[in-house]
Amino acid sequence: MPSLLPNEYLVAQKLDQMIERAELAPGGRLPTERELADVAGVGRATVRRVLTSMQEHGLVTRHVGRGTFLTARGDHPTLDPGVDISPVDLMDARWHLEPVFVGVAVSRGTARDFHKLNDLVTQGNEIAAGASDLLNFEGCDMEFHHSIAMATHNAAMVSVSKTLMDARSSPTWASMKKQSLTPERLTAYAQEHAAIAAGLVDRDTKAATAAMLTHLRHVRASLFPGSA
Ligand SMILES: [Zn+2]
Repeated sequence: MPSLLPNEYLVAQKLDQMIERAELAPGGRLPTERELADVAGVGRATVRRVLTSMQEHGLVTRHVGRGTFLTARGDHPTLDPGVDISPVDLMDARWHLEPVFVGVAVSRGTARDFHKLNDLVTQGNEIAAGASDLLNFEGCDMEFHHSIAMATHNAAMVSVSKTLMDARSSPTWASMKKQSLTPERLTAYAQEHAAIAAGLVDRDTKAATAAMLTHLRHVRASLFPGSA
């Protein structure tokens, strides 16, 4: 099964919230694709991919003309069941691997890759300025980190990054992140992303890598107080 893209995780998380809010029991009918697309602010094709992924996991059944029905409850229905990575292992892997992705992206990233990173920095700043929607920031954050891996133009590194993204969608990680995220931290994270992107644009390995380590140290200290 193909991994979901970061914006699709966002839809999956919103869908999850909606299911929780509606207290949908097994057998209950999900909102229509159009309603889901409106709420999540994405296209119907994206919603369809998320629903297909849930169907493949046996979490929903779909009947043409009748709609989509919940068959089971899961905190994060789209999480790849093959991925069972603890938050500690995930943070450890991020600490060791993401600076490597940055180093490779410095030399191999294209102007287009860096343009995308800058767009995500702008998006993150806008979300931080509103300081309201955690889910939006987490989705944007995942896309930022994954885009750095994409800028390596190395399929193996992109695949490793996708595994990290899958692990970041686990209920445990998501709830830890949720508890740790304050408006101040969100603003700081957005600034740290800007520093990473600036180092990449300048093709300055030392500055970009140092900025990534600073950011990851901050994330680690926020998630695991006392570990720094
Ligand atoms: Zn980040």
